[in-house]
Amino acid sequence: MMITLALSKGRIFDETLPLLQAAGIKMLEDPEKSRKLILPTNQPQVRVVLVRASDVPTYVQYGGADLGVVGRDTLIEHCAEWGETSLYQPLDLKIAQCRMSVAAPADFDYAGKVRQGARLRVATKYVNIARDFFAAKGVHVDLIKLYGSMELAPLTGMADAIVDLVSSGNTLKANKLVEVEHIMPISSRLVVNQAALKLKQQRIRSLIEVFAAAVG
Ligand code: AMP
Repeated sequence: MMITLALSKGRIFDETLPLLQAAGIKMLEDPEKSRKLILPTNQPQVRVVLVRASDVPTYVQYGGADLGVVGRDTLIEHCAEWGETSLYQPLDLKIAQCRMSVAAPADFDYAGKVRQGARLRVATKYVNIARDFFAAKGVHVDLIKLYGSMELAPLTGMADAIVDLVSSGNTLKANKLVEVEHIMPISSRLVVNQAALKLKQQRIRSLIEVFAAAVG
């Protein structure tokens, strides 16, 4: 019985490796060197598929993969569209940690605008997270959906502020933006296909247990 795990390249892949090791699973190829999208492991019954971070929930929901590792940010946006029950979410893996924040140009009086009840233009890839956050604060916003390089939006005058992931803060600093609100902490979670959980129950339950123990 094959188990397929969906991962995205980069931080999530790198930080999932030690968890796989704990389950005795080793990758046989380096994804940065290989062009393959399906990577074998030392266990013939376990393989990894490499997909875009925002496609991981989709692969798992539709059974292209049994399991996946996905950031809380991506997961919230996916579930806003497909519902909380579209995926089983058994475990916070506490990897790829960062935070979701509001950032604005240093010379933009964000707090003042909020106090005045001004309408803000906010650019983001995370429209559901942003909508919920500003609605809860009672701040009126026009959201501009982008797919990348959010930092550019305020620099070009297209938006007053952005909602984006922040880790070291270097990207914001390099673009003369400052963090003005913390929205939520972000880490990556394990997601599981609902049907696979029933059909491959033993194998998947034991993987979840090993990962849980490795996370601590
Ligand atoms: P930094 O310059 O370290 O604050 O990193 C910020 C940039 O890296 C942002 O453009 C984010 O989109 C991206 N980023 C940082 N941490 C993560 C993460 N855990 N998952 C995905 N993207 C991230």
